[in-house]
Amino acid sequence: MMDTKEEVRLLRGRLDGSQKNRMRKLFDMMYRPSELAKEIGFNKRLVYEVYVPNGCPHERDDRRHIWINGKKFRAWIESTYKKLKLKSDQGYCRTCDKAVKLVDAELKTTKNGDTDYLLGDCPYCGRTIPRIVANRRGQV
Ligand SMILES: [Zn+2]
Repeated sequence: MMDTKEEVRLLRGRLDGSQKNRMRKLFDMMYRPSELAKEIGFNKRLVYEVYVPNGCPHERDDRRHIWINGKKFRAWIESTYKKLKLKSDQGYCRTCDKAVKLVDAELKTTKNGDTDYLLGDCPYCGRTIPRIVANRRGQV
């Protein structure tokens, strides 16, 4: 099961509307992380720090460089972040497998200062749930 830190890390990779539109133009071909970042408009560090560690389909060549298929990337992003459409006072509880209203939510910021998030509890099972509020990373 993911811990809170891992969930926050995953949520940082969520794309906005215009990035999702640009993602639809990806081809069924292999992209370098820098090419993918340029096509969609995010910082390529997201690929190394968020997408690949969270299971984004990729291949490595004999020099250990990462290559990602555009179509597979899109499918992975859509299925991974599909569940995360939430109202402003909600978070996604992975134990209850649904969106819940956060109880006793507190605003926090990651140590490096690039992400603000709410940390609250699930009203059903008590699990601590993070919810991203502002993300200053992944912008070009
Ligand atoms: Zn729950």
